[in-house]
Amino acid sequence: ETFRKEVNQVAPYIQGKTEDEVRRRYHLDKVVKLGSNENPYGPYYHARQAIRRSVEDINRYPEDDFIETKRVIADQFDLKPDNVGLGSGAGNIIETISKMFLNAGDEVLITKQSYRLYREVSKLMGAKVIEIPLTDDFQYNLAAFKAQITEKTKLIWICNPNNPTSAVTDPTLLESFIAGLPEHVWVVIDEAYAEFSNPDQLPNLRQFIGRKRVIVLRTFSKFYGLAGIRLGYLLADQQAIAAYDTVTEPFNSSRAALAAAIVSLKYDQGQAKRVLKRIQGDREGLTESLELLGLEVAKSEANFVFAKLPEGAPSALKMSQQLMAQGVIIRDGTPWGYPQHIRITIGKHDELEYFLQKLTSIL
Ligand code: PMP
Repeated sequence: ETFRKEVNQVAPYIQGKTEDEVRRRYHLDKVVKLGSNENPYGPYYHARQAIRRSVEDINRYPEDDFIETKRVIADQFDLKPDNVGLGSGAGNIIETISKMFLNAGDEVLITKQSYRLYREVSKLMGAKVIEIPLTDDFQYNLAAFKAQITEKTKLIWICNPNNPTSAVTDPTLLESFIAGLPEHVWVVIDEAYAEFSNPDQLPNLRQFIGRKRVIVLRTFSKFYGLAGIRLGYLLADQQAIAAYDTVTEPFNSSRAALAAAIVSLKYDQGQAKRVLKRIQGDREGLTESLELLGLEVAKSEANFVFAKLPEGAPSALKMSQQLMAQGVIIRDGTPWGYPQHIRITIGKHDELEYFLQKLTSIL
């Protein structure tokens, strides 16, 4: 009871199992981790070098690096540095945005079949969370979102491509939804996986920045293979960024992270794009293989696939446990309300082969 009362209502974060944990628990030599949507190919050449070099100045706070990082990110989107905010991972930014907007009693619209942090942090702030289910074909039900907006609605969270379903919501519908939002509502579009998508499948969010109450969220964890360094960013109008920078703790990103981010954007894009081709190719290959085994695979625009197990197969929970016992870590869709779906990260080709071999033996 000594905690803030909302703390008791927040579901604990259940992290994907680590390779080491699984190796020890099941006495295995080989463990393949396809459970956390990491990029097995990163970090790339210049980022690696910059991280090493950053050690030399690590006695200093990263003042100048913040400004330089903002500038380099802004250039990517033809925005100004004061349209860019930084955080130690998109997760940290989600928390800060919630702190920035939410008071007890405010309403937040989300879908439950998405990244859990939106819900838990909103609850922590004492907000009322309204959950609107995805449609059967994994689209955000934007008409239902619109119907739920009241004067108390503060924030709407949309994950696109969505985790765990891997699908994108129709870009035209998303654009008109944003254009039609009332003035008092902010919408955050979490694009953690956007770089893996076909650009034609994504809405043009850049057009809304400075015009509408839109915040775009991205991360260096996925496409740039820097999950362990913890860096994400948000794009928004300059007042929103000024408010964000007031709420976030000073120096919320490390020198190493900022240095890696700058060179990733400046010099590692070529390598990242070659890897993207490989991931997209393996994503198609994995989709075909799963379909041959009788699974139903959602059209993925991310670095993971979401697949429904065939009739008669073990539940997704059982399947993920059995796979884990054989050294393959994936995610079970049950916590999101999909007890027959599994989520598999596009790891390296041989890791996917290993997964398929184990899956086949269980099916
Ligand atoms: N948003 C989504 C949709 C995610 O899946 C993740 C990570 N799994 C994050 C945000 C957080 O990413 P990070 O904190 O590593 O930037």
